[in-house]
Amino acid sequence: MMQTGLIHPSNPGCFYYLPVALRSLEKLVRLIDEEMHAIGGQKVDMPALCSAELWKKSGRWELMGKEMFRLLDRHNGEYCLGPTHEEAVTELFASQTTMSYKKLPLLLYQVTRKFRDEQKPKFGLLRGREFYMKDMYSFDINEEAALHTYNSVCQAYGRIFDRLHLKWVQVQADTGNIGGTLSHEFQLPADIGEDKLLVCGNCGFSANIETLEPGQAECSQCQTGKLTESRGIEVGHTFYLGTKYSQAFKALFVNASNVPAVAEMGCFGLGVTRILAASIEVMSTEDAIRWPGLIAPYQVCVLPPKKGSKAHEATLKAEELAQSLGNSLPNLKGEVVLDDRTQMTIGKRLKDAKILGYPFVVVVGQTALDDLASFEVVCQQSGETLFLSKDGLVDLLSTVETI
Ligand code: ATP
Ligand code: MG
Repeated sequence: MMQTGLIHPSNPGCFYYLPVALRSLEKLVRLIDEEMHAIGGQKVDMPALCSAELWKKSGRWELMGKEMFRLLDRHNGEYCLGPTHEEAVTELFASQTTMSYKKLPLLLYQVTRKFRDEQKPKFGLLRGREFYMKDMYSFDINEEAALHTYNSVCQAYGRIFDRLHLKWVQVQADTGNIGGTLSHEFQLPADIGEDKLLVCGNCGFSANIETLEPGQAECSQCQTGKLTESRGIEVGHTFYLGTKYSQAFKALFVNASNVPAVAEMGCFGLGVTRILAASIEVMSTEDAIRWPGLIAPYQVCVLPPKKGSKAHEATLKAEELAQSLGNSLPNLKGEVVLDDRTQMTIGKRLKDAKILGYPFVVVVGQTALDDLASFEVVCQQSGETLFLSKDGLVDLLSTVETI
């Protein structure tokens, strides 16, 4: 990502997101928004600057240790830069004095920067000290309803990874310092993954190794299958919290019998910048980036011929093509790049386009000037090269999914 100018390193674990990467990140956020809205999620934005008081109330001010970035304001008030927002959101809920059971479930989420002073920030965006997370918090009337919400969020997470065409597994997970009683991680299988997973060959049960007995070889669910080890990148984590935070913050609602009751909570994280980096990690080759089609920064790159070459007259054709694809196909609005660095050969620019991983590269050369004009189309996702007429090209590109 650094070599291709997607990101630029700042201090350890912090990055500049450059324009091309930011397009992809914004698409990923739109995809997440769609799936969160589909299950009733409402987007909010909470302060990154969180007062120590909140964290002392839940007992996590001490517990978070060195991972928390702490600071003082001018009055010596203690603060942290939010690593997660259970405390803040629960206080927000608790401050609503007229919370009726009729308003539940309430699902609030945000996509914001999180700050964690990781011991070893590494692998670029995979483990940053400042990174984007989508964190959702749910409030329900009782355990049954909270578990229903829990499952519905897990299903939405599955849909997000399916729409990105990524292989994923949902594994039994540890609740760590967030707490609660039930937890899953969403993992992308990858050799560089830092998490060790065990998957049952018989019933499909999967778990993070941290949750099992050391050396456990037999499945704890079906008791017959053998567990095999693999590695994964944790891209999402879900927790059923019960009343751990709502109790401490008096997050109450008025139930159907008109009596105040403590809300049941869940919390659900997706590592937005980690998903971006992890999907590039699992899809790319040593020397070329590949993106999940839906979040590729641009869908199409059009290459006009080199200035002064024999095919030079096709330059105008290339410009028209780039314009008309972007204008006539609604899915390609803003998605077509014209690589007009025509002092460079087509070969050199094609190489760049392959490295950057545009799903479609259209070469406008000599054959574009023939009576039956045709274009060379490199489909990078499938690896095919096609020769298509303008109509053929439009048909092909009209089916491209964008967000
Ligand atoms: P890890 O075990 O990798 O340190 P975590 O379990 O501490 O992560 P959670 O608190 O579960 O992380 O955060 C929710 C999600 O945020 C994670 O599933 C992951 O995708 C993402 N995430 C966590 N830490 C980082 C980080 N340092 N950089 C980028 N993304 C992160
Ligand atoms: Mg986690």
